[in-house]
Amino acid sequence: CFCQLSGKIDECTCNIDTVDHFNNVKVYPRLRSLLRKDYFRFVKLNLRRECPFWVDDSKCAMRDCHVQPCGDQDVPVGIKGETKQVNRSPQHDKYSKEANCESRDEELDYLNKTISPKMKEDLVLWTAHDNFCVMDDNDEEAEYVDLLLNPERYTGYKGPSANRIWNSIYLENCFRPKTNYNLYIQSNKLSNMCLEERVYYRAISGLHTSINIHLCANYLLSSSSGLSLTNPKGEWGPNLLEFRRRFSPETTNGEGPNWLRNLYFIYLLELRALAKAAPYLEHEEFYTGNEAEDYDTRMAVTDLLNVAKQFPNHFDETSMFTGSDQAARLKLQFKEHFLNVTRIMDCVGCDKCKLWGKIQTRGLGTALKILFSENFNQKKLFRLQRGEIVALFNAFGRLSTSIYKLDDFRQMLLQ
Ligand code: FAD
Repeated sequence: CFCQLSGKIDECTCNIDTVDHFNNVKVYPRLRSLLRKDYFRFVKLNLRRECPFWVDDSKCAMRDCHVQPCGDQDVPVGIKGETKQVNRSPQHDKYSKEANCESRDEELDYLNKTISPKMKEDLVLWTAHDNFCVMDDNDEEAEYVDLLLNPERYTGYKGPSANRIWNSIYLENCFRPKTNYNLYIQSNKLSNMCLEERVYYRAISGLHTSINIHLCANYLLSSSSGLSLTNPKGEWGPNLLEFRRRFSPETTNGEGPNWLRNLYFIYLLELRALAKAAPYLEHEEFYTGNEAEDYDTRMAVTDLLNVAKQFPNHFDETSMFTGSDQAARLKLQFKEHFLNVTRIMDCVGCDKCKLWGKIQTRGLGTALKILFSENFNQKKLFRLQRGEIVALFNAFGRLSTSIYKLDDFRQMLLQ
């Protein structure tokens, strides 16, 4: 079976079946219940930002691309920050001022009159030097979304628009000019790439795999028979044919199993970030305003982090960006290029895909920030916003679910 993978995970020291067991038995069940908690299910983002790279080609009208917004009254007051002055320790303020970049805006005030909004945005990005992703939760148009009401699944988004996004994302890995992703991959065999390029490629490819596994595992099965009054929402479930088309060696020029392996790579990378940030995250209050719920959330997070810390052989980030001047330049490029990936998400032509694309690239960006920030060990300088923490856990939750669902597909193929 092509998805019966074995051996070591590339760039890491542990085996695929070790991760399968660890994830499916220990991590997945814990994350499943943790991500249902209020702190993690409500995210604030702007799905209406203009695409900065090309004229928006598609405003998708597909029913399954629709994102159901949530009413203001549904969002816990503590998350909205309405109880800011009441019973809150100074620590909570990091959700408001510092974390929301207001202080940076003040610093830029004297320039406001002279620069264009675009330049101002770039300046903010540059001064936010620790960040690997563009956050938009402070935008006027940003809205809260309940992730449980909007599960990641098949939407029907495909064709030139979807392909252009993936193509552009892969080209961001290209530290040499190239115009076509396939050409790039052909001419840059992984063995010719440096470690940092391989890590970038494997992380993006793993994310791509995870998104595509989700759409195969939650496919609209009843579309051919049509939706009806008695079955208005359709029937959703795994589509083995679609999975085979996307990942078998015959239909992917031999690449499918490698793409599946990259899922394990990005999983270990994000797991390493969680384990590294555990001492930081264990001090978070996960504040929503509901004391009992917040206590449960803290307990569940600590439990998950203990599991993460016990797993050896994570991805080793210290092997990257070491040595010469060139290493520092490479790190800057890596950061810039990944920032662009998060901006490309504004060009996704399907709101549901954009929602989950933003969360997952933001989560990966947060993991990179934890792994590569020079300020990580300086308590006063290193900060994670609520949006970053929520994205990190949800992104890891998607990868964990993909590994779990992959096992379901394996069983189906063996039957
Ligand atoms: P694509 O998946 O578009 O891939 C394009 C090309 O990339 C392939 O031909 C192949 O050469 C290469 N490739 C494929 N997989 C990998 C990999 N893992 N690693 C390296 N190279 C690879 N659709 C949904 O139904 N639901 C969603 O929630 C959803 N979310 C999306 C989020 C984003 C950010 C994007 C860009 C797309 C999303 N899509 C979603 C669309 C989906 O990912 C596919 O693009 C779409 O189904 C069309 O598939 P395709 O067969 O043309 O190949």
